[in-house]
Amino acid sequence: MTILTIDRTSWNAGLDRARGDYTLVGSAWDADCLGFRELAPDEYPNMEGLLTRLSPKGVVFPPSQIMMTCALKPGDVKQNIYVSEEKLPSPRAVIGIRPCDAKALSLMPLNFDTGETKDPYVLNAWESCTWIGLAVTEPLASDFSTSCGTGPFDESPLDVLLVDDGERYLAKVITDKGTAWARSAGFETEAEEGAEALIKTKKEAAERAITSAISFDRIKEKTVLELYEANHWQKTTFACLNCGACTFACPTCWCFDIQDEVYEGKSYRMRNWDSCMTSLFTQHGSGHNPRETPLQRTRQRFMHKLKYFQDKYETGIMCVGCGRCIEQCPAGIDIREVCKTMNSQA
Ligand code: SF4
Ligand code: SF4
Repeated sequence: MTILTIDRTSWNAGLDRARGDYTLVGSAWDADCLGFRELAPDEYPNMEGLLTRLSPKGVVFPPSQIMMTCALKPGDVKQNIYVSEEKLPSPRAVIGIRPCDAKALSLMPLNFDTGETKDPYVLNAWESCTWIGLAVTEPLASDFSTSCGTGPFDESPLDVLLVDDGERYLAKVITDKGTAWARSAGFETEAEEGAEALIKTKKEAAERAITSAISFDRIKEKTVLELYEANHWQKTTFACLNCGACTFACPTCWCFDIQDEVYEGKSYRMRNWDSCMTSLFTQHGSGHNPRETPLQRTRQRFMHKLKYFQDKYETGIMCVGCGRCIEQCPAGIDIREVCKTMNSQA
């Protein structure tokens, strides 16, 4: 592992050099919304360390995606035959991703690669990325990432960790992919000897600034039925509007729906984000809906994140503590409070 020093005055020129080998992805403003997307050739990523409204999950799992197409015109040799639209994405450098968001995306293969079944759309997109993270030096009050197995300086899901040091970035190059990106950008100047200690000091300060935490150690030992039938759900979910904002913003929510759309003589098999908070998500063709009420749907969201996921994968809960759902819920529902209730219930 190497630590480089990157003067801010040479940052944009380095990004431009790397555009020859990578498509650049980063956070950028669209009207009043900050989100992650591909950057235009003359555009640079926002490096202010702000929490984007939507997480970067769309980089590997787009909100709407064509999976297959099928010709419908009579006489077409491929009429009524679905053809995959799977494409191998070119290399992409995702610049300035928060370490906890990268951690969330590193969990995605758990869901999209079961060993027997692989989702090539998500897995290829994920593989094409080089993750250039930006350490979070000023965490928000809603950030509880350190109690979710990650944190503001978590290197584990990243290829490079950038640390803001005033007039420069310190860049911890962690993997071979990270080395290739740094070379491509022409960032080669090694930092001084004390750089590692400086990063450690900044990391400790950022972690100390996170004053919010959750405990989920006792959820695992409780049975599903104990948690499912608990009497707090009515109160916990009372204010929920089932708007789905929490799940769309969340970097670890991956529910989707597949539907066929016909347009100008072609049929498109689309995958679109969906949410366990909407009633149509579980509506059967027969009309029966196993999660008909808002209480059932809200309970599902928290049971999945805090109980089912930890039981199934042994990798902790399905939450990295980014705080988006807390910031954006119009009803003030706070996953930290729900977790506390579930963890402490008798
Ligand atoms: S918990 Fe909040 S954000 Fe999520 S669906 Fe309910 S009201 Fe909307
Ligand atoms: S559940 Fe909330 S805090 Fe946890 S990862 Fe999702 S949006 Fe972030």
